[in-house]
Order: sequence, then structure tokens, then C-alpha cells
Amino acid sequence: MTDIDVAIVGGGLTGCASAYYLAQAGARVMLLERGQINQGASGQNAGSLHFQLEHRLIQNIDADVRELEFYVGLARIAIGQWRRIDDELGCDTQMSMGGGLMVAETPDQIDLLERKSRIEQSQGLDVRMLDAEEARSMAPYLSDCVRAALYCASEGHCNPRLLTPAYARKAAESGASIVTGAAVVAVQRTADGWQLEFDRDGEGSETVRAEAVLNAAGAGAPAVAAMARLHVPLFPVALTMNVTEKLAPRVGHLVQHVGRKLSLKQAHDGNLLIGGGWAAVLRQRAGRWTDGRSPELKLESVLGNLRAAADVVPLVRSLRLLRSWTGTTAITADQLPVLGEIAEAPGYFVAAGGSGFTYGPTYARLMSERILMGRTSYPIEPFSPARFGALNAFVG
Ligand SMILES: Cc1cc2nc3c(=O)[nH]c(=O)nc-3n(C[C@H](O)[C@H](O)[C@H](O)COP(=O)(O)OP(=O)(O)OC[C@H]3O[C@@H](n4cnc5c(N)ncnc54)[C@H](O)[C@@H]3O)c2cc1C
Repeated sequence: MTDIDVAIVGGGLTGCASAYYLAQAGARVMLLERGQINQGASGQNAGSLHFQLEHRLIQNIDADVRELEFYVGLARIAIGQWRRIDDELGCDTQMSMGGGLMVAETPDQIDLLERKSRIEQSQGLDVRMLDAEEARSMAPYLSDCVRAALYCASEGHCNPRLLTPAYARKAAESGASIVTGAAVVAVQRTADGWQLEFDRDGEGSETVRAEAVLNAAGAGAPAVAAMARLHVPLFPVALTMNVTEKLAPRVGHLVQHVGRKLSLKQAHDGNLLIGGGWAAVLRQRAGRWTDGRSPELKLESVLGNLRAAADVVPLVRSLRLLRSWTGTTAITADQLPVLGEIAEAPGYFVAAGGSGFTYGPTYARLMSERILMGRTSYPIEPFSPARFGALNAFVG
């Protein structure tokens, strides 16, 4: 039995970055990952650093203004953090912050961009509207169908294959114990904290005692919470990604669409990465969702995604598609992340959901502050599990 301060479940970006910030602050940390570091959504995603409010968040823009303002505030904190990340991690994560354009094709979409920009500007995010001519002079690769765009100078992208392993290395250098092949199978409250049992690659189980638990298990977070008889209402979502062959540098921005599912960028090696939230088919076992196997690719999603890309960036038509893949992430019903302590279970913290690549390092920094000092440098109450508190009030 090992005694530590914080046990982290999940070796994705949130877990590894949390391990780093906690260990750096002097906490005794053990991170338990059932497979390999970065095997979940953190290693499968599009790598977009999208600080503008995304297409999926603004479907009910007028009803959600207060939450959206908090999200934009978080974006400002995240921008500052991303600017320091390569120095902090001492490595090149192929990060680029060359700016991002969210494009519109119709008058309704332009109106939505304008309303969105007012919320973002009111919270100090540096965005500005461009008309069609300005957008194409900044980004000559855009098609004539683009009638306006919202430009955010800080947006960009980073290589998801490099970032999380870099955090894991720094966490280990700072004294955190990073244990892979360690599936957490039981979590119990004790008189003075928590006890976790984990299977080591099927070779028998081990136990660790911790003052606090951080559930950073991504799409596995609800199952990990259930081990402690808690509800965390996150739902698995399967998404599609596409990558084209390489080309000379042509697309210097992150390109998104305000009314269609599209994200497009040119990666460090020259390939175009195309995604934007197109569905894949989540596997089921005995009528229940399972995040253990890769979701199945849907041809309609690949075609729909490439059509949106080619409409906005016509040079896509001349490129060969190299590969399409799928990944599983987790969302809440209100699409906001879940960050904080579960009031009914003192010492039990959750950090999951939301746009967890863009915000993972920030979730991690804020959660390490919350766990070690009981407060955060930016308010996370709007993202607290307390908004679903009623669920845990009835757990026996
Ligand atoms: C295709 C796709 C594209 C995306 N694009 C973007 C994007 O461009 N920008 C953006 O901001 N976000 C994007 N996202 C979302 C983003 O990837 C996720 O929000 C983020 O990576 C979540 O990180 P995480 O550390 O919380 O979870 P994960 O990376 O999923 O890590 C959770 C880890 O927990 C482990 N685990 C689960 N159960 C247990 C257990 N019982 N014991 C031990 N370990 C366990 C899993 O094995 C996994 O490694 C995308 C997601 C997908 C799938």
C-alpha cells in the first residue's frame, strides 16, 4: 500500500498536465493509466487551439451568454499559457499560433459571427470581423463562397502526439509516479481520504491510498466515478479526422466555419488536417456504449467533411486523402467542461469534457491550484460538478 497526496486516473493531456503542475508544486502524485500515455482522445484529436467560441457552443447563443462569457475568459487564460508551453516543457511541440479564421457563407451566418464577436470582445478576446475582400487578402486560399470571417490572432494548432508525452516526461522529472498498464478497478472512501485499487496488466492488483483523487479519465470518467458510487454525467462522442498528402506551406491559419462542421489547418509537416466534429459510430457491447475500441468510420462523414473543406479551401480538391481515423471524446449535456470537487464526496475531483486539447493545460493548472490551495486563479464555478449536484444527492 502506497500513501500519496493525489491519485490521478487517466494518462491523457488533462491527467499528465495535472500530474506535472501538482508535482511541481511539491505534491506526492501517482498517475494511473490503464493503457499507454496519450492513447485516448488526447492523442487522436485535431490539435486545434480554438479560442473563439466554436460552432457547437453557439447554437443557443442568446440563452447561454453568461456561460459563454466564462468560456471566453478561460480562453484568455489559455492563450497566455499556450504562449509559454514550449519553454515550460523544454521541447518543440510543433505549436503554431499564426491566427484563426472562422468563416461565414450566408447573411445568417454573418449575423451569428457578429453576435459572437460582441460576446468575445466584451471579455477581452482579440477578434475582429473581416469582409470577404479582407479575408481573402489575408488568406488567399479561401474560396469565393466566403462572405466574411472572424479573425482571432492567437488561434493555431499543436501536435497532439507530442504534447501529452512531453507533460508526462516533465511530471516524472518533477517526481510524479506515472504508472501505465494500470486500470483502476475500485475507488473507496476511507476515514481520511481515498483508496484506489488497480490491475497491473492483468498481473494482480495493487492499492494506493491518497488524500485526493482526480478523475481525468476522459470518456471513461463516468465509469471511474461509478466506482466511488458517484455520477458524472459525461457522454462518449465518436468523431472523424482526415489527413491529406503534404503540400508546400499554403494555409497559415486555423480555418473553422460558423455554420458548418469544419476545422482545417496545415500541420507542421505540410499535411492538411481536416475535421470539425463529424460523427463516427461508437461501438456498443450488450446495449452499452464502450470506449474500449476505436469507433467505426462512417463514409458519409468523411465525404461530408471533405466537401465542406473543398467548398471553403478549393485546393483541397487537388490533394489525395492519406488517411481517416476516429476517436472518442466526452461531452456534457450543456457542452461545458466538468471541473471541480464533487460536494458530496470531499477530496474527489473531476476534470473532463469541453475542448480538452485547447484547454487541457489550463484545466490542469486550475485543478492543481484547487486541489492544493482550495481556490483557483480564475473562477471555475460555472463548470463545477455542482450543476449536476442533484444526481449525487440520491446516491446511497
Ligand atoms: C477526433 C477528435 C478531434 C478533437 N479535436 C479537438 C481539437 O481540435 N481541439 C480540442 O480542444 N479538442 C479536441 N478534441 C477533444 C480533446 O481531444 C479531448 O477533450 C481531450 O483530449 C480530453 O483529454 P483527457 O485527458 O480528458 O481525456 P483522454 O485523452 O481521453 O484520456 C483519458 C485517459 O483515461 C484512461 N482511462 C480511462 N479509464 C481508466 C481507468 N479505469 N483506469 C486508468 N485509466 C483509465 C484512458 O485510457 C485515457 O488514456 C477532439 C477529440 C476527438 C476524439
